[in-house]
Amino acid sequence: MSQPSNPDRDSDLNFSDLTPGELSFGAVYFDGLTSRDRPAQVQVSGQTLLVRSEGLEASYPVGGVSVEPPLARLRRVLKLPGGARLETDDRRAIAALERRLGRNAGLSLVQRLESRWWVALASLLGVLAFTFLFIQDGLPALAGVAAQITPPAVMATLDSQTVQAIDSQYLKPSSVSPARQAQLRQEFAALALERGGPYRFRLLFREGGDLVGANAFALPGGTVFVTDELLTLAKNDREILGVLAHEVGHVQHRHAMRQIYQGLGLTLMFSVVAGDVTSAASVAAAVPAFLLSSGYSRQAETQADNDAGQWLMKRYGTTRPLQDILKRLTLQDGPEVGSRVMDLLASHPGEQARLTHLQAIEAAGGK
Ligand SMILES: [Zn+2]
Repeated sequence: MSQPSNPDRDSDLNFSDLTPGELSFGAVYFDGLTSRDRPAQVQVSGQTLLVRSEGLEASYPVGGVSVEPPLARLRRVLKLPGGARLETDDRRAIAALERRLGRNAGLSLVQRLESRWWVALASLLGVLAFTFLFIQDGLPALAGVAAQITPPAVMATLDSQTVQAIDSQYLKPSSVSPARQAQLRQEFAALALERGGPYRFRLLFREGGDLVGANAFALPGGTVFVTDELLTLAKNDREILGVLAHEVGHVQHRHAMRQIYQGLGLTLMFSVVAGDVTSAASVAAAVPAFLLSSGYSRQAETQADNDAGQWLMKRYGTTRPLQDILKRLTLQDGPEVGSRVMDLLASHPGEQARLTHLQAIEAAGGK
């Protein structure tokens, strides 16, 4: 991470005049227009929040900043007026900011309600009605259709933008040897070729760390991440390939794309209903969080397991490799419950149902 480019600015900002009421922390800044992230230094002083990053200096009224509720162990998110956002690991600073905002936000909400209570009420009713309709019916159905007709080139672009964001926020470089990586890539390429489709399949190796642990997950266009921890947990390559076949299944059924559309749909809808059109632009920056924290539906997991099971039957005549690694995944000390990111540990449907399903595929001898 680089420091702000112009050191001369420090003198203009009087950062040395810190008083006990001031708050300062490091964060990652997204401008709300692109998914590019920039390291930033944030300073809260009185009623002003100041962001400094490469080539950027912006100040916001503290009252206009909203703090997103904490999401498991992912980074804390601040939404800035105008659609930009900040993400930070500094939970203490955010807690201090929340205490401060709690007072101010409460006050301004009361003022708003007193002067324009009917606007607030109408907005609330509108949000409730839209939410009900979309969640019940419209949104998942629309998201499914949109996912199926999304051009592969669009998904490939989304993949490359998302890889950067995911790397900077969730994963570390792999320590798996280049020779081992090359060998697994070759096996993965054969699997992907066999399964086909208009996707640009590629396999990326990363260390999962505390947040992701032993896991694998796929981006919409065919980019599949596998963590060092998962490779260590696997007793043989069949187990790894079983997991990768499951991820290829998610790609081919366009589960991630669907997930993103559902996430984007809600965000857009809330923004528009609340009259905050500009913040809709910030959704691109939020894609990694949708993908990593929301998890797939039970139906999507079953579909991916089915694909993996059928492939394992064809290749090895048994679904045991995937069963074995799933059992081991649930036994190991993973990230805390509630902070598990997708894919394999998200456990929809539950472990036992997944094992029973894979056993049934084996009993039927595959298709
Ligand atoms: Zn899955």
